[in-house]
Amino acid sequence: MSHATTSRKQEHIGDPVSDKPPVSRDKLEEIFQDIQADLRYDFELNGCLNCGICTATCPSAHYYDYSPREIVQLLWTENLEGIYDAMQEKIWSCAQCYTCAARCPFGNSPGGLVMLMREVAIKHGMESAKNVLRPFSRVMLKLISTGNQLSPDMINPDHFADWGPNISKIDAPLAVLRRAIPMPTLNTIKTAWEVNLKTSVELYTIWEASGVLDQLETIDEDLFDVITDIMDEKREDWDDFLEEQEDED
Ligand code: SF4
Ligand code: SF4
Repeated sequence: MSHATTSRKQEHIGDPVSDKPPVSRDKLEEIFQDIQADLRYDFELNGCLNCGICTATCPSAHYYDYSPREIVQLLWTENLEGIYDAMQEKIWSCAQCYTCAARCPFGNSPGGLVMLMREVAIKHGMESAKNVLRPFSRVMLKLISTGNQLSPDMINPDHFADWGPNISKIDAPLAVLRRAIPMPTLNTIKTAWEVNLKTSVELYTIWEASGVLDQLETIDEDLFDVITDIMDEKREDWDDFLEEQEDED
């Protein structure tokens, strides 16, 4: 009598009726391990009753094909393929409001777990992360280069066509209106408020040290190049300023 020598472990996992190519088990395990390895994971997942309270209170679940209960169950049961599948679309529906975390009887934070999964999706350069973040490149450029998420000069008819003709009332005299604000740091339209050069340079250091810039490079190399050029310029300005101060002393 002969014994089978091949392993029954599936090397690739995929939906047999789907056209999508199966993903290697190693890749799925690597992604799950990255999620689990985050320090927050054990605080945000303590078990799951499958009670659905999180989904009942989740605003995104009312509007999208999305359920925080399902996400937590996938993680709790270590459903590798389901986790990977959810990272292709569903996790990007969460509004990060954390209503679920306030209600879960187990003290879980489904919204926090979704955040971890998003970070891992970016780390692995998943197409879903690139697609979701692409429309926000203008906001990311503004945020990382100036420390402001939005600025008055972004409120114009080109960018907010859906606001209709009333947008022109805000757009036309914007520079004049801003100059009329008594606080000098708000007399600008390129940033929401003027950010001190030293603060900008400190922010760059934080974004570099915390890996934010590495993540940006993974998902949008062109934007990364533009931002690093801006950072280099501002750092030079800061060095020049320090030298001037030394010369004056
Ligand atoms: S995460 Fe919490 S609220 Fe949601 S199904 Fe599990 S136990 Fe219930
Ligand atoms: S944080 Fe996300 S999953 Fe939780 S209630 Fe808000 S939208 Fe739903």
